[in-house]
Amino acid sequence: MDTIDFRSDTVTWPTPAMRTAMAAAAVGDDVYDEDPTVQALEDLAAHRLGKEAGLFVSSGTQGNLIAALVHGQRGDEAILGEDAHIFCWEAGGLSVLGGITPRPLPTDDIGRMDIQQVRSAIRGDNPHWPRSRLILTENSSGGNHGAAIPPDYFAELRAVADAHHLKVHLDGARLFNATTALGCDPTAITQWVDSVSICLSKGLCAPVGSVLVGDRAFIHQARRVRKLLGGGMRQSGVLAAAGIIALKDMSQRLGEDHQRAQTLAQGLAAIPALVLDPARVQTNMVFFELADTVAIAPEDLITQLWEQFGIRLGLYGGRTCRAVTHYWITDDHVSQLVQALDSLLAP
Ligand SMILES: *Cc1c(COP(=O)(O)O)cnc(C)c1O
Repeated sequence: MDTIDFRSDTVTWPTPAMRTAMAAAAVGDDVYDEDPTVQALEDLAAHRLGKEAGLFVSSGTQGNLIAALVHGQRGDEAILGEDAHIFCWEAGGLSVLGGITPRPLPTDDIGRMDIQQVRSAIRGDNPHWPRSRLILTENSSGGNHGAAIPPDYFAELRAVADAHHLKVHLDGARLFNATTALGCDPTAITQWVDSVSICLSKGLCAPVGSVLVGDRAFIHQARRVRKLLGGGMRQSGVLAAAGIIALKDMSQRLGEDHQRAQTLAQGLAAIPALVLDPARVQTNMVFFELADTVAIAPEDLITQLWEQFGIRLGLYGGRTCRAVTHYWITDDHVSQLVQALDSLLAP
């Protein structure tokens, strides 16, 4: 990559190995079920996540939406965290396209809903009420500094869901970041949910795509809904070829990104004008605040960082900034960011 871009891990370019594999990929018409590379990716994802089948979809938003449309119907209700990506960042697709009412609940500082509150939110059979049908979860939790939620929470949700015949979907856009931080196999978490969507195009560096997994009957329905949403792709093996490398190789190296995020957090914490707690950094995201004493407006700081140092950084509303580490961020980039902020914020 030719810029130093800390805004997100979505900015990652495909690796040289991916570009080579994409050029050589065997392809076919995937809507006819004839693309061998797409099928290999779907099988690999299903296997890694302990499910029967997979479906290659165009984005994480599409994967989550398809899951909700398969699990739920118009008039149903989905319980989810109030800071969940599905609730905050997916254009209201649940209601707009699914006729499904979101029921947002508060979350703790790593993104967990309170199990008792989940239980209380589940409605009985009454013609006045929407039908409780679905629990939507997320791991790692993007709204909570990329925190990794341990498996036992999902086991507890499963028990509640089973008692009330609800489905559970996991938005695992950054599931491998979570399991890397937790030191567990993805199946330790995915065994407790009915469906999982993972993003290939974030820290895993693929240019496009997500995979949705679940049991065979679920994926059969999901394929129809993907077509309905205009997501049936043709010779998408050229994209899936990068996805296979993302899953096989890139998912193994995320610890490096996490280490750099920790180094970055410690460097930033030493700057008096910045407020953050490095202990909250579990994966590849570093959120920090500009102290009240800082006179420069956050937007101006971001502009100066770009214009004077060639570094891009994200602004998260108010005085909160976000730096995300990924494959194209080196140790040297991390020190450059710390030094640049130190000099721009010097009293
Ligand atoms: C990125 C992301 C998604 C999907 O986003 P797309 O831009 O549609 O790929 C879903 N959930 C979470 C938590 C994400 O971070």
